[in-house]
Amino acid sequence: MATANNDKKPHAAILTSPGMGHLIPEVELGKSLLTQHAFDVTIFLITTDLATARSQIHQQTSHLKTAPNVVELPQPDVSSKLGPDPSLLDRIVVTMTESLPSLRSFILSMKHPPSLLVVDLFGTEAIPMARDLGMQPFVFLTTSAWFSALTIHLSAMDPNQVENTHIKNREPLPIPGCEPIQFEDTLEALLDPLGPIYEGYSKVSKVINGSDGILINTWQDLEPSATKALGDSGILRRFTNGPVYPVGPLVRTLADRDTGSVHVDNKVMRWLDRQPTESVIYVSFGSGGTMSEAQIRELAWGLELSMQRFVWVVRPPIEGDASGSYFDVGIGGHGSPEYLPKGFVERTKELGLVIPMWAPQVEILGHAATGGFVTHCGWNSVLEAIFGGVAMVAWPLYSEQKMNAAMLSKELGVAVRARGEAEGGGVVGRDEIARVVRRVMVEEEGGAMRAKVKELKASAEKAVCEFGSSESLRQFRTYSRAASEAKARGA
Ligand code: UDP
Repeated sequence: MATANNDKKPHAAILTSPGMGHLIPEVELGKSLLTQHAFDVTIFLITTDLATARSQIHQQTSHLKTAPNVVELPQPDVSSKLGPDPSLLDRIVVTMTESLPSLRSFILSMKHPPSLLVVDLFGTEAIPMARDLGMQPFVFLTTSAWFSALTIHLSAMDPNQVENTHIKNREPLPIPGCEPIQFEDTLEALLDPLGPIYEGYSKVSKVINGSDGILINTWQDLEPSATKALGDSGILRRFTNGPVYPVGPLVRTLADRDTGSVHVDNKVMRWLDRQPTESVIYVSFGSGGTMSEAQIRELAWGLELSMQRFVWVVRPPIEGDASGSYFDVGIGGHGSPEYLPKGFVERTKELGLVIPMWAPQVEILGHAATGGFVTHCGWNSVLEAIFGGVAMVAWPLYSEQKMNAAMLSKELGVAVRARGEAEGGGVVGRDEIARVVRRVMVEEEGGAMRAKVKELKASAEKAVCEFGSSESLRQFRTYSRAASEAKARGA
């Protein structure tokens, strides 16, 4: 059973799930709790790519005087539990489930066990275990308040109604207090409301709602209606057991980097130093994003046709799997990009730079020469783009990215959407790619979008200061402390 730490400091355990898009903000949360809110922090690492995860954590924490304690849980052998061609979701869920026994025994062996456990969307199976071990369970949703609102509301939705209205009639899906979700932006998990994936998501929704509280990587000014709906007197609050804290933006920033890191690729930074202000578009599809050979070819041609300077993170083609590098990111891998159209690198050598596998994204987006970003709209990329003050071409691939793309283009007016057949599984053509790149980089609307992103950047910076999201973390600390003291008194 968990006992209070000797010095009465709250001790937060953070359970990560596979995928850099979760690990990165979870480490940022740990850093913030440790350095600004006087928590002890232990990060329990569940990953399928240990070398990359280690190096990422090192990059994010090595410059700190005191870093969070990191426990690498043994990687479970999940092969016998999965079918021949498991989905991304199945692999994550099974990996998390199979890691629980080692998490449990590690916590039981700790001299000063954590007083609370923070899990993400994929770690909810650890919540009953946390309660059993006397820890308060919290959930950190590493994406938008809008997606979080959907997730929280999901278990209260009638799947038959979703099937009849949203799926069959393609009507927008209402979420109380928030923008409805248009059918073309909906999640894959909602496409079959009477099927097992939807049912699993609905169960996860219930478990999240039953946790002691929910932390979301957003801030009020970015998403005023969704954060209001989730707030203490909001319309969605009745669905959750505990409060909802908008604790974002928790994001790596230039001010907080490890300048000695091996990831700061000097070649790209030196190249950017030589380019005019806001003249370069950065093209990257997150840690997991992969494309077909045909799509890579069209993208190469589209960039060339746009005649704009670019930095493009390329990965080998994978047919029929938009999240092909989710489990094995390949930082440090170089691989020569022979899959690009013949002569492309040579023809564009004055115009652009191709980086295989992985680039120092925060540094690139924060460089004065970068003015645009072709992005898959992963939430971390969105937040990093805001801090970089760049306009976006929204090119969502999977998960909740279409919702993020809709928010960026329709509500916030900081992105144009790359329309094409890609969202139906086809290929976005070169002309469309050249057109959206030019809209962002050359046309007046691109300048207007950059001006709007800079306003968002100012609001993000305000949020991380004393009276913004860090205030939410302070409230979280007070709340978790009070709840644990009440529990100790048997109240
Ligand atoms: N990232 C990076 N270099 C790359 C690709 C990705 O540093 O070449 C980082 C990016 O800065 C972000 C994270 O990986 O912090 C990706 O998270 P996001 O939520 O954008 O997308 P996901 O990978 O989860 O789809």
